[in-house]
Order: sequence, then C-alpha cells, then structure tokens
Amino acid sequence: MSEQAITYAHYEESFWNEFTPGEDDPTKGAEQIINWAYKSYGDSLVYACSFGAESMVLIDLIARVKPDASLVFLDTGLHFQETYDLIDEVKNKYPSLQITMKQPELTVEEQAEKHGSALWKRNPDQCCYLRKVKPLEEVLSGAVAWISGLRREQSLSRAKTQFVNKDERFQSVKICPLIYWTWDDVWDYIKKHNLPYNALHDQNFPSIGCIPCTSPVTNSDDERAGRWSSFNKTECGLHTTTTP
Ligand code: SF4
Repeated sequence: MSEQAITYAHYEESFWNEFTPGEDDPTKGAEQIINWAYKSYGDSLVYACSFGAESMVLIDLIARVKPDASLVFLDTGLHFQETYDLIDEVKNKYPSLQITMKQPELTVEEQAEKHGSALWKRNPDQCCYLRKVKPLEEVLSGAVAWISGLRREQSLSRAKTQFVNKDERFQSVKICPLIYWTWDDVWDYIKKHNLPYNALHDQNFPSIGCIPCTSPVTNSDDERAGRWSSFNKTECGLHTTTTP
C-alpha cells in the first residue's frame, strides 16, 4: 500500500469526528486524540508549531505522550525577537523535543531581489506562499499526518474544523486536538501549568506572526484581528485549499 493510501485509509477509518468529549474531560478530547495520533502515526506525525498561545498547550500535552516528538517552526526570517526567545525557553523546558526551524528557499534579502522589496505589502498571499506554505509542503512531503492548533471559535472559516481532517492542500491528514477549546481555556491551562508564553501576549498581541503583518489589538473581540490588519487577508494559506 502506498503512503498516500495509508494516509487516506487512516482518515476514512477514523471515528474521531463522531466523538464528543465528556463535560468532565479537562482537555476536551485533546489528550485522547494526541494519544491516538502518536500511536497511529508515530514518527510520521509532525507538529507545525507557531509558538502562539495554543502551541504552548499542545507542546505540553504532546510532551507528556511523546517527549521526543517532532516540531517544525516555519521560520520566515521575519518573526519578533520575543518569538525566538520563547523558542529558546521551550527548548530548555522540553529538551527532548525535536524542534526544526524550517527556512524558506530564499532569505528575506534574496526574496526582495527577486520579487521586489516588502512583497508582503504588494502580494501577501505570494509572500506567505514562498515563506510558509512551500516550506511546509517540503516538510510534509515525508510525513503522513500533521498537528495544528486550530480552534473552532477562532473564525468562521475554522468553525467546522474536525479532530481529524483530510488535508487536500498537503495531501495529508491534519489533526486538530483543540477544536473545542476557548481562548479562556487556553489561558487557564497556561496559567495552571505555569507554561512559558510569548511576552507580546501581555502587550495586546493575541495572535502573533511575522512582524510586518502583526499588530496589537485594541477594542476587538476577534483575537486574530491583529493579523494582516491592513490587507484583505485573514489566513496565511496553511489552512486553505487554494494556491496563490
Ligand atoms: Fe510574508 Fe506577512 Fe505572510 Fe510573513 S505573514 S510570510 S511577512 S505575508
């Protein structure tokens, strides 16, 4: 059986999308799905980690199940220093985790030479494709499944996310353990377990990505309002099916 067939067989056989966590389950199904995912996919499972608030929860849950799990950070070269500082903290706290900093083919300077400076201002979809989507395609070319921290309440486009998703963009299975978590759940867990988190969260940055495309948020209930706030764009392309 080819790797592709194994991927979709797992998806078709999955019973998780009929599963509703009990009210007494403190992780709202996350711990169970993570356990199942590592038993099913083992070393073929990759966590694409953004090091946002949800990531801190997932890292902690994953490290309990598989202390040497593989994490990939899409290092666009345009992240805040606070994000790199947090990655160092995580490496110290969870020394067995395998954290890969995946860089795009072109440095920021090379991209400017080839496509013009500040591509994110003129064509953010192309910029995200070059610096995030394509690198993740390369990472997932050897993986059967990946984990993402999507939550249903984050946006309308994420409201129907399942625990186990057929990911046609990356020809893979996307596992989302936190679909039932609220923003408060995430922070309750971080505080309860004394987890590290990005210092920018305390400066009105609920969602943190690249410097040019992330702004502080004031007077908004939408925690993703600070992402691409000057552009007609809400997603980097990792969770959509179209290619720019
Ligand atoms: Fe480029 Fe902005 Fe996407 Fe980062 S978030 S890859 S700077 S468009």
